[in-house]
Amino acid sequence: MQGEYKTRSRHAMIRFMKENAEKRFTAGDLVKAMNNDENKVNRSTVYRNLERLCKEGKLVKYKEAGTNATCYQYSETHGQCHKHIHAQCSVCGKIYHLDNAVFEEAAKRMKNDYNITIDYGKSVLICLCDGCKNKEQ
Ligand SMILES: [Zn+2]
Ligand SMILES: [Zn+2]
Repeated sequence: MQGEYKTRSRHAMIRFMKENAEKRFTAGDLVKAMNNDENKVNRSTVYRNLERLCKEGKLVKYKEAGTNATCYQYSETHGQCHKHIHAQCSVCGKIYHLDNAVFEEAAKRMKNDYNITIDYGKSVLICLCDGCKNKEQ
């Protein structure tokens, strides 16, 4: 019974993330979405699953600029989000998964010159995407 609850909760969470793959969400959003007529998932289960999905590289976790809220975004196709850096459009919020090669040189120099290592899974560059740039003009 306990095991079944766990699996069902995880599936319900992943379904929500897939449906919202283009949007970021907070842990609070997920807790809210997981508690309706169909599901009852407690907070700690939600948080535990979020942490696990981050470790598996299926989620990007980052602090949103401005609000400083911790946000998540699901990445079904990559599963490597802990290994590469991300860029986010500050207007529409779209997340870009950057090829590691883009940052290789910077990562090397940061290591050599400052002795620091980039935490890829938590790093998001704030950018302006082409669509939003064109709209602003
Ligand atoms: Zn990614
Ligand atoms: Zn944009």
